[in-house]
Amino acid sequence: MKPNIIVNSSDIYKDWNYLHEHGETAFQEVETTKYLAKRLSEMGASFELFENMTGMIVTLGSGSPVIGVRSDIDALKQTYKGKTSVFHSCGHDAHMSIVLALVQYFVNNPDKLKGTLKVIFQPAEETVTGAEKVIKSGKLPHLDVLYGLHVTPESEVRAKQAMPMLPAAATRTLWLTIRGKAAHAGTPQLGANVIDAFTNLNEKLRRIKLNTNLPYSVTTTMVHAGESSNIVPDYGTFAIDFRTQTNELMDILEKEIFDAIDSAQEGDIKISIDGNDLSPAAIPSVKANTVMEQSIIDILGAEGVVEPKPNQGGDDFHFYAYDGLAKESTMLGLGCNLNPGLHIPNMTFEKSSMIDGAKIMIAAVKNTPSEFD
Ligand SMILES: [Zn+2]
Repeated sequence: MKPNIIVNSSDIYKDWNYLHEHGETAFQEVETTKYLAKRLSEMGASFELFENMTGMIVTLGSGSPVIGVRSDIDALKQTYKGKTSVFHSCGHDAHMSIVLALVQYFVNNPDKLKGTLKVIFQPAEETVTGAEKVIKSGKLPHLDVLYGLHVTPESEVRAKQAMPMLPAAATRTLWLTIRGKAAHAGTPQLGANVIDAFTNLNEKLRRIKLNTNLPYSVTTTMVHAGESSNIVPDYGTFAIDFRTQTNELMDILEKEIFDAIDSAQEGDIKISIDGNDLSPAAIPSVKANTVMEQSIIDILGAEGVVEPKPNQGGDDFHFYAYDGLAKESTMLGLGCNLNPGLHIPNMTFEKSSMIDGAKIMIAAVKNTPSEFD
């Protein structure tokens, strides 16, 4: 039997229209936060803003289980057709509109909520730094389960379909400086050429082979070196992006990369790490996936369920489980005929899929058992 979940579709479209036109980048989501606060106040939902940070946490109900729902709120600064602007090309405008509808539903139907609902409007997903700041704020209690969602390209899921879990990859970026020894280009043997050292290191990185069937990648994404065409360069910077499907595989890959960096330091060549960002892989949760799969079936029917496919995208959503704050977690991959792809400024999707998304997320909260362990 299909559950009778009614959401106000005109509110979803109205919220999306406003949020879509007012995209803001990581930690700059000031107008976005004001709009969310205005909407939550209109609903009579109680919420707490973060101190010195955009975003907020909404609290409904009380007792256990403690169920978390997270929406990211930031957008991307990009250039499209010669114009630089901030675009919601990752669909976080849709996530916010869906999650606002979820809050409205449980404000209207408090009897449908077992336990406590904590809704996180999280800043700065795109820089994978927002989740950790939310965790460090101390404003979130331990969550029995955390649900997130992401609009998903049509190549993976069509409208009227969804994946109960998005198996996001572990992603890591290293920013490095390489130092050598300058010399006249005519006497390279007297110097230590950072371009040669970098080329040597890059070859080693390209030869890394892990003993696994799971996807992974190692990609040098930035290189800058050399100021003058007749001097052996003694200074350069570069960046390496690497990704794995699991956190365990990341530990292995990371060791291979650090070994390669160490072995490239010989003679006058020294390499230092200036920056090191990571975002953990999804930690599969059978319990959370079962709830989400049932919720997709409730709303879209059994034909709406699509098997999760590994992807090399990352999301800081997975910090909540990785850091132990959320016991179980899963992220819905919502089909919405999204084209041509995420992070492309002219990305479009089927707006009515937001209504399906809101109903699935509401069903997930309702389907969460009172004893979630
Ligand atoms: Zn995103």
